Amino acid sequence: MMYGGIDFDTYFKQYPDEKGYFGRYGGVYVSDELKAALQEITEAYFTICKSRKFIAELRRIRKEFQGRPTPISHLERLSDKLGNVQLYVKREDLNHTGAHKLNHCMGEALLAKYMGKKKIIAETGAGQHGVALATAAAYFGLECDIYMGTVDIAKQAPNVARMKILGANVVEVTHGLATLKEAVDDAFAAYAREYKDSIYCIGSVLGPHPFPMMVRDFQSVVGIEAREQFFEMTGELPDAVVACVGGGSNAMGLFSGFLNDPVEIYGIEPLGRGTKMGDHAASLQYGTEGVMHGFNSIMLKDENGEPAPVYSVASGLDYPSSGPEHAFLHDLGRVKYDVVDDEETIDAFFTLSRLEGIIPAIESAHAVAYGMKLAKTMGKGSVLINLSGRGDKDMDYIIQKYGIR
Ligand SMILES: *Cc1c(COP(=O)(O)O)cnc(C)c1O
Repeated sequence: MMYGGIDFDTYFKQYPDEKGYFGRYGGVYVSDELKAALQEITEAYFTICKSRKFIAELRRIRKEFQGRPTPISHLERLSDKLGNVQLYVKREDLNHTGAHKLNHCMGEALLAKYMGKKKIIAETGAGQHGVALATAAAYFGLECDIYMGTVDIAKQAPNVARMKILGANVVEVTHGLATLKEAVDDAFAAYAREYKDSIYCIGSVLGPHPFPMMVRDFQSVVGIEAREQFFEMTGELPDAVVACVGGGSNAMGLFSGFLNDPVEIYGIEPLGRGTKMGDHAASLQYGTEGVMHGFNSIMLKDENGEPAPVYSVASGLDYPSSGPEHAFLHDLGRVKYDVVDDEETIDAFFTLSRLEGIIPAIESAHAVAYGMKLAKTMGKGSVLINLSGRGDKDMDYIIQKYGIR
């Protein structure tokens, strides 16, 4: 299928290019020392991860440990309530540890094992990536250093406890604002020092090449499964697919299954409290081109050109940029990016829980909210929503802030 001058039949062979670019976005903006380390991962990825043995082992782990394939559920009561459009969800909430993040963490950790590394290093903000990675490290018997800001450690006590129980070493980052940005800086610095024995594992389709490609490829299991399952259930493809976009990994996972199909694709960013800078994290909607955390993409910047402060009710979505492939698909127009705010999200959170017996992660509730809006405007057809995670982690916060609705 041709779209915006791009042949999507061969899209995955063309993008990223050898230098790690999706059009103008992506690349490797790091020190020479780190470049050498990333080059090692890139080479290992192309030889090891394409090998039959690696693919077979990852497939077995996904089945026996992660609980894949995850099902698709038809939301009958919600669809009836909204009209004639049929809504479906891909149940990534049913992955072991409760979200899609384990899909790429198991892949990255298996790669570390094949490369003979002893340790995996990463940063975490809300702690979801840290928990998924600590799980993978425990499974493979790898050491695991998770860099986390003091402020986030205080806010995310349950996830810190989970990481520690799983045997990970949570490294406190105290300088600057002591949140995600500083944690990323320190984790990269640690990797530059320790790369002989370790690999860095990023939490989304972000960072320098090869991470956006590698994480997309590991997450593509979501889209591949979903396309097959949906066809089997209905005899057709969905008219539209929807996913929330923080860094963009669950979205790239789902989208990669449908890019070459006549299917409308929607990536949903958090509008938070509103359009004012600092009140949202809708980087593709309101951002401009720039380099941060080792890659070129569309990002939200403050007056000094530094990553801007961002906000969302969903801590997994409050990142001031999105993966370079999303910036590329945005410019091409192949994926439409739109926003929903906190209020619409909380409404969808309760609606899905009440009508379907599924409590979604607040991140995923953004996609559900948009799917519900689409259902009202489309009139007929079908929409497949990626339910990236379950809401257990969010319940205390929701009750405290919003009460029962
Ligand atoms: C981390 C997280 C997200 C956001 O990350 P992406 O890379 O944009 O997918 C979305 N949903 C859940 C449940 C998460 O834990």
